[in-house]
Amino acid sequence: MDFALIPSTSGQRLVMSYDVKEPMKSTKKTGSTPNTWAKQQSHHHDALVDLPDELVLIVASSLDKESQILLSLSCKRFHVLLNTYLDLALPDKATKVRLLLCLEIDHPEYLTCRACGLLYEWRMMQSRHYECPHANEHQSADTQLSYRRLIRAGDNDYTLVSRAVVDLILRAYEHGDPHGLPLTSLNTSGKDRHGIIRTNQARLIDGQLILANRLEVEGGEEMATMARFFDMELCIHFRANPGHDDRFRAVEKAVKGLKGSRKKRTIRKELFKCLFCETDHELYVESSAEKRIKIVLDVWRNYGRLHSNSPSHEQIFHQYPVLRVAAKTVSKRDVRAVFESGR
Ligand SMILES: [Zn+2]
Ligand SMILES: [Zn+2]
Repeated sequence: MDFALIPSTSGQRLVMSYDVKEPMKSTKKTGSTPNTWAKQQSHHHDALVDLPDELVLIVASSLDKESQILLSLSCKRFHVLLNTYLDLALPDKATKVRLLLCLEIDHPEYLTCRACGLLYEWRMMQSRHYECPHANEHQSADTQLSYRRLIRAGDNDYTLVSRAVVDLILRAYEHGDPHGLPLTSLNTSGKDRHGIIRTNQARLIDGQLILANRLEVEGGEEMATMARFFDMELCIHFRANPGHDDRFRAVEKAVKGLKGSRKKRTIRKELFKCLFCETDHELYVESSAEKRIKIVLDVWRNYGRLHSNSPSHEQIFHQYPVLRVAAKTVSKRDVRAVFESGR
């Protein structure tokens, strides 16, 4: 067994690797993840075990709660020692979830429900989009923090992008295929009965999961079709952002500006960047020489990294977010550019 200490928001985080002969495999180089860090430090693996009890307790006291519990589970000696001298009771659900997230690394068949703190076999839940089996019993406050987005392609082709799905994709990226879902599971496209063409593409850029959704309408009824689906394609915080009433008018204005034009013209417009999560929206309107109008709505969503504490990444799942990102930060942000950099 290997031990390694890394800094965390709530103290020192203990990282343990149980199988030195077959360490965790990573499909891509992601920088210094906890596991790779532990492997790099494997020459220290005897140091903690060889220390006398007094020094082990000093080290353990500097750890965060979830790491203390993990250390107590590593062997009989540490179990007795830490349970005798430290308070290992879980103080709250957040600590329990952090502990389970640590355990997941060695048990890729399990996933932690961040809403209720249940560790469940995620592949068993495939037909329910990998959702927690206790999802129906979640409290409404937890449900509001785990909003799922429906990503459509054709009439019967849709994907639910939930926190579980995002966690599974990011886990597979960091720790290898058995830990989750392939990125390609979010890549879909198709045309539905309303004539809407949708293209959904996901990319991992510097460890961040970014999903780009494109909706295209044309053929004479484009404004009516766009009016029908406009709201539901945007970020869920659309109405919490200032000036939301003007968004659709911007679409109408762009289309009017092109109507009657005999030449092929294009208008590109930034619709808005959400102030609560990392979602950017852009509009693209094009008229052909035959006076046909095509409206394209692009939405880029950044779900962040597996262990990201940034409010704008967390709040992408929050139905009623409270923290507003600084306007200066939002104006500098360009989710589209980050996505395009991964071509
Ligand atoms: Zn749950
Ligand atoms: Zn948002």
